[in-house]
Amino acid sequence: MPGFELFGDLERKEVNDVLDNGVLMRYGFDAMRKGHWKAKELESELSKVFNSKHVQLVSSGTAAVSVALASAGIGAGDEVIMPTFTFVASFEAIMMLGAIPVLVDIDDTLTLDPEAVKNAITSKTKAVMVVQMCGSMGNMDALRSICDKHNLVFVEDACQAIGGSYKGKALGSIADVGCFSFDFVKTITCGEGGAVVTNNENYYTNADHYSDHGHDHIGKDRGAETHPNLGYNFRISELNAAVGLAQVKRLPEFIEIQKKNYSIIRESLSEIQDVTFRTVPDGGVESYAFLNFFLPDLEKARKVSEAFKTNGIDACFHYYDNNWHYIRKWDHLKDLKSLYPISKEVKEGIEYLKTKSFEQSDYHIARNISCLIKLSWTEDEVKERANKMAELIKSII
Ligand SMILES: *Cc1c(COP(=O)(O)O)cnc(C)c1O
Repeated sequence: MPGFELFGDLERKEVNDVLDNGVLMRYGFDAMRKGHWKAKELESELSKVFNSKHVQLVSSGTAAVSVALASAGIGAGDEVIMPTFTFVASFEAIMMLGAIPVLVDIDDTLTLDPEAVKNAITSKTKAVMVVQMCGSMGNMDALRSICDKHNLVFVEDACQAIGGSYKGKALGSIADVGCFSFDFVKTITCGEGGAVVTNNENYYTNADHYSDHGHDHIGKDRGAETHPNLGYNFRISELNAAVGLAQVKRLPEFIEIQKKNYSIIRESLSEIQDVTFRTVPDGGVESYAFLNFFLPDLEKARKVSEAFKTNGIDACFHYYDNNWHYIRKWDHLKDLKSLYPISKEVKEGIEYLKTKSFEQSDYHIARNISCLIKLSWTEDEVKERANKMAELIKSII
């Protein structure tokens, strides 16, 4: 991560194809487009990568989550279980539909603790959303069986984990419906973009319609198409899709580089007693987009994070003190600071956040440091960084 580090001729060529005929929209204008259908091509490419029947591209990862939930029929007053550690997009996407985000503790996989999920289920619960944070994953078998037992939709946000797998299946393709982001800092970027991935024919058709104002996409005349249901506009443009099309062909190369760089740093930190690593569930293979490790306590983690910053080790995050990825700093959510009135259901549904504490999540996130693995580092740079990181940590613990 991120794919933009290695932009080159491939990206340029795909974008120029689009500019040559000037059709920036993914639907219609058949005669003008000289055979270029970048969004369609990217969808079929992604469906091969994920070994999944259907892929619907949309305008962002946040849109992907909203479209996925809407396509599965989740809306006003429904409860969606999600982890305390994620990106703000998770609750935004849920609340946009008038549904209620129910935050639960994470374990040392850094996503949903299956026990916490079980304890949070009520008669209003409709879905469980696992967020495959920082290139790894939750315990998918345990979560799957909870969802099956309680008849819940299983949603998988794999925005940060493209290229990872669980028991041979691509992350994002395992739950009932998966979501990806191709924003500017993700492993594969479109500039802005996202995707909904599913084997469920019905969810796919809903996503296809809903993300384009309800258009049923039957026939060759957009104006004559019918609208079986209400929809919105979450379309991706051809320009964005073109960039993604070039990038997705390089995914195996990107994952190889991430793995190589990750391994060098991990090996160096492994030698330090008191540094431990996140748990990757049995059968899981990380995407190597990040290296996550734990220090003995909050104070030491803060000191290490500070030392990294002042010594030029960039792109390492101590999420406990971060405004965007962890419940602790989400006062705008807890206080429901909305520009517009929020429904009574959501207001009441979110009341619990004012008083609820998440000690188990705090325990993990307070001690965790998450380092982005870049694609553009040379081998010498990674080795130097790995040594420096180890030295700094040793000087503190
Ligand atoms: C990036 C990200 C999103 C949102 O994607 P956008 O394309 O930026 O809207 C959602 N969830 C996670 C875990 C992300 O990292």
